[in-house]
Amino acid sequence: MKDFKNEDALVLLSGGQDSTTCLYWAKQHFKAVQALCISYGQRHSQEVKVAQHIAEMAAVPFQLLDAGIISQLAPNSLTDLSMRMDEDKPADSYPNTFVPGRNMIFLTLAAATAYAKGIRHLVTGVSEADYSGYPDCRDTFIRSLNTSLNLAMDKQFIVHTPLMWRNKEEVWQLSDELGVFDIVRNETLTCYNGIIADGCGHCPSCKLRKKGLEAYLKKKSTLVEAGKI
Ligand code: ZN
Repeated sequence: MKDFKNEDALVLLSGGQDSTTCLYWAKQHFKAVQALCISYGQRHSQEVKVAQHIAEMAAVPFQLLDAGIISQLAPNSLTDLSMRMDEDKPADSYPNTFVPGRNMIFLTLAAATAYAKGIRHLVTGVSEADYSGYPDCRDTFIRSLNTSLNLAMDKQFIVHTPLMWRNKEEVWQLSDELGVFDIVRNETLTCYNGIIADGCGHCPSCKLRKKGLEAYLKKKSTLVEAGKI
């Protein structure tokens, strides 16, 4: 990646594994980092507290924005507690954990916030690998929105997606390389049922996180045994 060590970045922080890893990634690549957390009526308002705590631990400024209107848009099981959450991806559609428009709204809010702060680098933890295939996590969409944001605000924003091509195993590896494996493992909230760290173990998010963690720990122990690390 090009060197941006003289510039600041704004990181979208939800308090989960991915965005927390991105926060620490950004701390290595930019001069100063700020965290933006967006609440949208999601199942667990605890996420906001977790994100704030992580920002404190990382010693970065934290800002919270309310985008509660998202919960009034299309039905989804992250904001509608009466809906039963899909544990698997339906064959012909997205799981009901898909929140239509969410990442587009998030990045637009982040860009407007960054604009006001004179920041042009935005960092988000979206990924194409290993997920449910949400359309607004794809690289094509992010590039397209990046262009639109630049046109909308007449700025040269750069949206950074350090996890775009990493599966969960590789995201764990990255957190280890950044020296924050334990923080990510013990302090983040990824579980759809609101249980911090290793979570409930059976929701789709926990299953993905656990599978990646086990794969990474296995790989690491093989490398340690072989004396490679
Ligand atoms: Zn869970």
